[in-house]
Amino acid sequence: MTNVFAVTNQKGGVGKTTTCVNLAASLVATRRKVLLIDLDPQGNATMGSGVDKNECEYSVCDLLLGEAGIGQVRVRTDPAGYDLLPANSDLTTAEVQLLQVDGGNFRLKRVLSELSSEYDYILMDCPPSLNMLTVNALTASDGVIIPVQCEYYALEGLSSLMETIEHIRETVNPALRVEGLIRTMYDPRNSLTRDVSQQLIKHFDERVYKTVIPRNVRLAEAPSHGMPVLIYDEKSKGSLAYLALAGELLRKTGSSV
Ligand code: ADP
Ligand code: MG
Repeated sequence: MTNVFAVTNQKGGVGKTTTCVNLAASLVATRRKVLLIDLDPQGNATMGSGVDKNECEYSVCDLLLGEAGIGQVRVRTDPAGYDLLPANSDLTTAEVQLLQVDGGNFRLKRVLSELSSEYDYILMDCPPSLNMLTVNALTASDGVIIPVQCEYYALEGLSSLMETIEHIRETVNPALRVEGLIRTMYDPRNSLTRDVSQQLIKHFDERVYKTVIPRNVRLAEAPSHGMPVLIYDEKSKGSLAYLALAGELLRKTGSSV
């Protein structure tokens, strides 16, 4: 069965894109078939996967607007090995146009109905806002993966995200669940990090992944080389952490490692 997850948090810079690219590569390393959908007009997941967002003739924007087919948009990343629906600044246009059409929030779900059976996991990298693109992702998803940086304002931002998820659940996607919260850029020496982490666990309990992603310079360097850290520096702490997260996700979603 295909697992479709939106990786989202309306806060920017919390590790959404880093989590998408590296979790996708780690799932491929466990022989899963993976599709990564870049839904951020910044195209960071596209560039970080080694695909030049400025060279793409077609992007996920064309797919959402019905102006291109999946065969024209989809690319296989090399050497990472997952499939990618790339994005660039054109996606801002799609966001605006989708607001004006009937059923604009179902476009991505419709696209996925054609191709989801080809994959074990589909990950969507959401933009840093709760806009129409994020709503499309939440409407098309089974679950939400939320990267959280354990700092002072983290919990405050989470409550509006939870309200949005609840709203989507009540209106268009009753089965949507919070798959898990992943603590990113984690520094156990920082007492504030530990405090926020405790509060997260108190509030979300077993939905907080046991795995934590440490702050790791190799994770920050890898995107400029257009590759996941697993390929850039396989033995780095960042690489091992994302492999561990993939293992945890596989166990939680009933697929043995
Ligand atoms: P978002 O997609 O939520 O905006 P990113 O994944 O782009 O966040 O991360 C923001 C910045 O932090 C990027 O420059 C990224 O390389 C860096 N970064 C993300 N996770 C880590 C980490 N665990 N250790 C070090 N740097 C990280
Ligand atoms: Mg991002």
